[in-house]
Amino acid sequence: MIRTCIGLGSNLDQPAAQLHRATGALAQLPHSRLVACSPFYLTTPVGPQDQPDFINAVALLDTTLAPLDLLDALQALEQQAGRVRHRHWGERTLDLDLLLYGDQHIDLPRLRVPHPEMTRRAFVLVPLHAVWPDLVLPDGTPLASLRAQCDDAGVWLDTSGD
Ligand code: AMP
Repeated sequence: MIRTCIGLGSNLDQPAAQLHRATGALAQLPHSRLVACSPFYLTTPVGPQDQPDFINAVALLDTTLAPLDLLDALQALEQQAGRVRHRHWGERTLDLDLLLYGDQHIDLPRLRVPHPEMTRRAFVLVPLHAVWPDLVLPDGTPLASLRAQCDDAGVWLDTSGD
């Protein structure tokens, strides 16, 4: 089994329910085991500000699926959520990003891992640190140091509980 990290995000059609459904679906993936999911966070959008806040979380999934097979599965779940995409950096029903696949570096047209934006995004670093505080990234950087330096002003624990 390879330990993977999956970023989840939604800001349309009851985002918290979207993430609950998505984590349930991750738990059902073949050859895989959902290990943990972070709390849900309410986050201000990166990009256009005239859109609803997002709910973000990070799930840990152990799997024997190959990286592209896992990406296919994640994209199928996005489609099942009726994903709509209005504009770049815009609102979406469900976004699933493969952040880490063990300590592998993958550079394919369809898949770049570690996800190239993950270390710059507080909405990834905060939930990732919550669910895996002592993670060391494949390049040797302790996640805790990135978490300590990141501007988390737009990231709040979602206490609505829905
Ligand atoms: P986005 O919806 O903005 O997350 O981008 C989706 C596109 O990014 C798809 O075409 C994927 O093939 C591609 N992609 C590249 N690397 C990754 C990754 N690590 N996780 C998810 N999608 C990725």
